Amino acid sequence: MKLLVTGGNGMVGSTIDADVRFASQECDLTNFNDTLAFFKKHSPEAVIHCAGKIGGVGINSRLKGEFFYKNTMINTNVLEVSRLVGVKKLVCLLSTCIFPVEANYPLTSDQIHSGEPHPTSLGYSYSKRLAEIQIRTYREQYGVNYVSIVPCNIYGPRDNFKIDEGHVVPSLIHKCYLAKKNNTPLKVWGTGKPQRELLYSQDAGDISTWALNNYDGPEPLITSTSMEYSIKELVETIVDVMDFKGDIIWETDKTDGQFRKPSDNTKFTELNPDFKYTPLKEGVEKTVEWFIKNYDYARK
Ligand code: GDP
Repeated sequence: MKLLVTGGNGMVGSTIDADVRFASQECDLTNFNDTLAFFKKHSPEAVIHCAGKIGGVGINSRLKGEFFYKNTMINTNVLEVSRLVGVKKLVCLLSTCIFPVEANYPLTSDQIHSGEPHPTSLGYSYSKRLAEIQIRTYREQYGVNYVSIVPCNIYGPRDNFKIDEGHVVPSLIHKCYLAKKNNTPLKVWGTGKPQRELLYSQDAGDISTWALNNYDGPEPLITSTSMEYSIKELVETIVDVMDFKGDIIWETDKTDGQFRKPSDNTKFTELNPDFKYTPLKEGVEKTVEWFIKNYDYARK
């Protein structure tokens, strides 16, 4: 099957073996006609949809409206155009941020729509919820084999390392790099107490390809690691890998965001029992190595 990966040059998309990948300058996915023309030109039979306007808790809470609009347009166009050009199989990446703040732990896919998501990611989370509804309604009305997976926080090479925009792993790697170079303290947002499940980008790509070939179910499949680390533990790992010996300052006036999002990957592990997640330390080592080697070109 001819596979098109949206966001094909991005952190996850670039890890997937695709027939068609493109830069965002080549096709504006927020524009329906551009998206339709691009898909018609390449006539893909399968799509892995990774593209989106993505960022960490800082930018996500500052640009809520923009995150809502751009992601809603991108998702709506990609799914509708896929249907129009006859894409046979589509895998859409959701995120564990779509779950309600008030939920029963561990998070299960039947709880996705049962309450408001955390206010720091309101726009982004609702755009992902709409993609879930679009997939569900298209499956029912048009009988298409489109599925969604729910990864947790993803990190890895080619991530966005901008200090104010990135997710926690790339932002802290960049901050630690600068703190070490300039002999200054490492400043970490929040209390260090929130917990996150962290997924290495290559794992997210491998799981997407697996889902393309093996998962046809109607329910969003949670593909997180189901293993939580506190931000403090993450900081210790980064500091250790980067051999940073300076002081650490906890900026408790900065948001902690959602406190926890522990999710239940039981169904995924039943369907794919041999899958091995990259351990956090190994993933951080590979990401740090990539960042230092590609410092001039990295998004920072
Ligand atoms: P979230 O899972 O959507 O909240 O995304 P993030 O990866 O941006 O943030 C995860 C957690 O890391 C939050 O509790 C932040 O307060 C904390 N954190 C600590 N330092 C940083 C930082 O420099 N950047 C980001 N983005 N988060 C940080």
